[in-house]
Amino acid sequence: MSEATAEPRYAARASRMRASEIREYLKLIDQPGLISFAGGIPDPALFPAAAFAETYARVLADPARSRSALQYSVSEGYLPLRQWIAARMLSDRTIACTADNVVITSGSQQALDFIGKLLISTGDTALVTAPTYLGALMAFNAYEPRYDTLPLDATNRTPAAYADAADRAGGTVKLAYAVPDFANPTGATMSAAARVKLLELADALDCAVVEDTAYTELRFSGEAVPSLASLEIARKGSIEASRVIHCGTFSKVMAPALRIGWIVAAKPIVRRFVLVKQAADLHSGTLDQMVMHEVADATFDTQIAKVRASYGARRDAMLAALARHMPKGVRWSQPDGGMFVWASLPEGQDAAALVQRAVSEARVAYVPGRAFFTDGTGANTFRLSFTLPTPPEIEDGIARLARVFATV
Ligand code: PMP
Repeated sequence: MSEATAEPRYAARASRMRASEIREYLKLIDQPGLISFAGGIPDPALFPAAAFAETYARVLADPARSRSALQYSVSEGYLPLRQWIAARMLSDRTIACTADNVVITSGSQQALDFIGKLLISTGDTALVTAPTYLGALMAFNAYEPRYDTLPLDATNRTPAAYADAADRAGGTVKLAYAVPDFANPTGATMSAAARVKLLELADALDCAVVEDTAYTELRFSGEAVPSLASLEIARKGSIEASRVIHCGTFSKVMAPALRIGWIVAAKPIVRRFVLVKQAADLHSGTLDQMVMHEVADATFDTQIAKVRASYGARRDAMLAALARHMPKGVRWSQPDGGMFVWASLPEGQDAAALVQRAVSEARVAYVPGRAFFTDGTGANTFRLSFTLPTPPEIEDGIARLARVFATV
């Protein structure tokens, strides 16, 4: 007799919710002796743990402060933190804004979910790069979009071609999503010219531009490129005329577990996000926001310097090891920052099939690239993260991986 299922009849959107392939590969990290380039998570040794410990204790020990720290709070987020972020946006990213342009989210991942919820009706088009951040696809998928490909540099297709394709699919182009600095998974940075082109395309399509800046602080070399938000403000005269929804996070510089990110946008857009935030979870943790505000105020610049020095040295170790060991035909990117090197095997080879051998024979893990594409391409690509292993481990791991690739 077959077992009766207890599962309810799900909504149509549930069919597009799939487990991330990356989660599966992350399980590989826990094997002893394995060198993992799969992760893409910050090095916990860099978290300002002592400052957090001291600040949590101090806030909770003060009766007046602990009462509000443990209480319900406003959906837009803790005001001093929003003011701190607004000041940082101006000083670091030339985004002139006030606390009223800022809403706190539970990590930038929640911002991506909210963006899908606010903008995408079933069948609407989201423009994404190929490859793109898998978490953005997972967030948007629940709202049943159609995807179209956004070229990173030259936009050869006319706005009309994008609009017609969206129309034929029964919707309109609602947003263009980009990670302009040190993207996940490619590590690539968009040129200033490409950013302006993207803003022009968005004007022609009358769609939102979602700027995901998860890695922006992690620059090891080269010159900073102006943010999409700052370029848009310069073009339109004010943040209130900007179509950019700018998302940031404390995850990569401070600590991801506190789940604190932000959206910066024109006030009417922010007010919409506040309504969505209220419906989703009322507000992000008050105590965590209060502590993040104090710890960020005291340590953000030293944290940036620390993560840049540490990851920069590991990026250098990885690029040197790749050049020393990889067989002919394997190619890789030269990122100026972030957490990833993006690589490809010769055309026709399958990075997903080879990862099993890499793990069992060489005790090395990486993430096959296909999951990052919405069009089923990219079978020969893969992502290498350099944030967790030490430089000697990187040298050893890349040499071991190269031996597997050399025997294909
Ligand atoms: N955007 C990008 C491009 C990311 O790589 C990540 C994390 N991997 C996020 C957003 C989400 O990060 P968080 O929710 O911790 O801010």
